[in-house]
Amino acid sequence: MENNLNIIHIDMDAFFASVEQLDKPELEGKAVIVGGVGLDNRGVVSTASYEARKFGVHSAMPIAKAKKLCPHAVYLPGRRERYTELSSQIFNILLKFTPQVEKLSIDEAFLNVKGCHRLYGSSKEIGKQIKKKIKDETGLVCSIGVARNKFLAKIGSDLDKPDGLVIIKNNEIAEVLDPLSVDKIPGVGTKTANKLNEIGIYKIGQLKNMEYNELKHLFGKNGSLLYELIRGIDKREVNINSETKSISNETTFQNDTSDLDLLLKYLLELSQKVTRRVRKKNLIGNTIFIKVKDNKFNVTTRRITIKKYINSTDDLYKYGKKLLEKVDLKNPIRLIGIGIASLKEKKKEQLSLFTNSKDKSEFNIVIDSIKDKFGNESIKRARDLLKEDKNN
Ligand SMILES: [Mg+2]
Repeated sequence: MENNLNIIHIDMDAFFASVEQLDKPELEGKAVIVGGVGLDNRGVVSTASYEARKFGVHSAMPIAKAKKLCPHAVYLPGRRERYTELSSQIFNILLKFTPQVEKLSIDEAFLNVKGCHRLYGSSKEIGKQIKKKIKDETGLVCSIGVARNKFLAKIGSDLDKPDGLVIIKNNEIAEVLDPLSVDKIPGVGTKTANKLNEIGIYKIGQLKNMEYNELKHLFGKNGSLLYELIRGIDKREVNINSETKSISNETTFQNDTSDLDLLLKYLLELSQKVTRRVRKKNLIGNTIFIKVKDNKFNVTTRRITIKKYINSTDDLYKYGKKLLEKVDLKNPIRLIGIGIASLKEKKKEQLSLFTNSKDKSEFNIVIDSIKDKFGNESIKRARDLLKEDKNN
């Protein structure tokens, strides 16, 4: 295979709906629609399973319309936490192949696999291994595109969904792109597509017949970018972003609240969840951030970077609490979240013979293993415990 086909685009197939089918086997093969808040008719479809797509249901469609097209579908509210959990599992698999992972969303990423071939074989081979590993470890299915750049790789992953693996070789670029409709080009939305359709242009191949200056005239500064993309040229690099280097959890309340004690209680619970995931990956981090959304959907985030790297529940909660106290809580709160960023691997430390009573990491590990065995609800720490700790 040509040696410059180094960019992989991976996209989970009908991610949220597939997770629901995975967790609830009775939904397998059924039309499943995961939708926005409350699934009332004001909400929109987040993801529709392939069985529901047959009826014309797609993402961002109002729930009311979906119910008309596909009344027999099973409608479910999203379970963000579960999706996030599986997403981080998937990203961990990707990161095993290369650190060059650019996260685009919860279920989508670019990889640059240049330099991975000696270990894992051709890009196609890597694509196969990624698909297998994800399927084996999570039970979920994805589609992958392999090409010389981001634009083509993304086009590729979309060509044979679900469960696709499409390689676009350099001598096939025109053959693949020309018959595609113009709205497949990133940045060409419905509005632009309509504008093009009005002048009789539907396919990328037709768009290629337009002069460079014409494109500039029609699309302004995006014209030159477009000129290149439709010829399979895309100079954007794969950027490793910090998102893959942070771990966070958030929760949306059933009722908005202004009760600080209650918010702190949730913050503690979330701190437990976050640090548990951090410890499981043997990581420590020194940036702590919180996110608060009020009933008007205003989002406030606060972050702090400290000298010490942490992964204990108490430490995360302590800094999270400080950050929360800096937030002006004038409106009732609808959602709260907390996370750790700037993560790095925790080096195996020499175990000291005498455990430092201030070091809670061992205590946390014991709690983790009990929860692993008996479930999340098996141990609930009393908040008082924290208060006592502070007085020590
Ligand atoms: Mg997807």
